[in-house]
Amino acid sequence: MNPLKYVDSHMKTLVSDLQMLIRQPSVSAKNEGIVECANLVKKLLVNSGIQSDLLQLKKNIAPIVYGEIKSKSNPSKTLLFYNHYDVQPAEPFELWDDPPFSGKIKGNKVFGRGSADDKGELITRIKAVEAFLKTTGDVPCNVKFLIEGEEETGSAHIENYLKKYKKKFSCDGIIWEFGYVDSKDTPIVGLGMKGLLFVELSVKESVRDAHSSLAVLIKNPAWRLIEALKTLRDENGHILIKDWYKDVIPFTKTDLEIISKEPFDENSFKKEFGINSFIGNMNGMAAKKALVGSPTCNIAGFVSGYIGEGAKTVLPGKALVKIDFRLVPKMDPKKQVLRLKTHLKSKGFSDIKIKIFHGEAAARTNTSDPFVTKVQNAANESYGKSILNVSNAGTGPMFSFANILKAPCISIGSTYMFSRIHSPNEFARIDLLKKTTKCICLIMEKFGKD
Ligand SMILES: [Zn+2]
Repeated sequence: MNPLKYVDSHMKTLVSDLQMLIRQPSVSAKNEGIVECANLVKKLLVNSGIQSDLLQLKKNIAPIVYGEIKSKSNPSKTLLFYNHYDVQPAEPFELWDDPPFSGKIKGNKVFGRGSADDKGELITRIKAVEAFLKTTGDVPCNVKFLIEGEEETGSAHIENYLKKYKKKFSCDGIIWEFGYVDSKDTPIVGLGMKGLLFVELSVKESVRDAHSSLAVLIKNPAWRLIEALKTLRDENGHILIKDWYKDVIPFTKTDLEIISKEPFDENSFKKEFGINSFIGNMNGMAAKKALVGSPTCNIAGFVSGYIGEGAKTVLPGKALVKIDFRLVPKMDPKKQVLRLKTHLKSKGFSDIKIKIFHGEAAARTNTSDPFVTKVQNAANESYGKSILNVSNAGTGPMFSFANILKAPCISIGSTYMFSRIHSPNEFARIDLLKKTTKCICLIMEKFGKD
């Protein structure tokens, strides 16, 4: 039997193993079932013939499940699978049709928190390796698994783990933890992710809220913050901070070709969000380019004064805003923070306090890397088609991987784009789990050949 046939005839066990994983809650935000789930994943790896260990940076930090299998026929190339075993909290429970950790099957779907993100993705990779081991007694290249338990809370220790176990994780190519399949069942081969800088700006004027009749004398911190915010960005979304775009490199010709080929249904996108137009009346190619490569300055939340029912004439003592800036390749979060600080000072806002929550650089795999063609060919063979994506509009710790392990990173997987990840009634589609498992087999095979 060949590995692809093995996948066909072992879908029942793949699905029941996924159910077993779903039934073990592993909510990192609440530290619920983390160690239990790590042990379960380790057991699954071992059962599939993969040597596995738990790595622990420090006590009370979620362990990494590490897996490794060496190739007898081609030990010169190593593929690393990055996944996570933790999940988002399942709340609000009442919106689930079935209990969130039940792993209930209905038709072509397995329901449950983590069924797609990321336990579904993980199971396809474990089973792809198993398919080779059980049919050929070997794998076409060395395979490593790095499965973390803090992804859903921001991968706080992944960089330290990567640094400490750099040698152990060394590899020639990385398959990212997720991969989307679009509404037409086309898998997206993703080559990058944007970076992120999350900050809080606050102004404190008086020691307490005051009667609003005193607004003739006391400065209002909400106005103060609004004035500062107005200097950060124009109405078309262009960021006005000095040198904000200085390090950004323009798209290459190939990037632009790939972007132009990417489908983007503007009208259904607008319908989905109930909006009539995009920022600056952008459309077509400009909108697609923005998704792939535009930095943003977004107000995530703004609090000040009274926002309860009815009226309250109050002059707030303080105001606070949370802002996320999406970053693109070559923008260094540390440098961008300095630029923001210098900007506020130069505009006369030295009274505004800045708190930095999170800084992460963007990453992008070069479109000409031979790994890209191999993954895309595997996707085409398994799904009959694929779409290349220069960069996802979202953020993940891809830069740490690419920078520390010095290997190209690509995302490809089984997550149907409307599979309600992070929401009630999350599901994984069984047909996509099968296609993806075969796709992973083909990636391993092509990766092993040179
Ligand atoms: Zn997630």
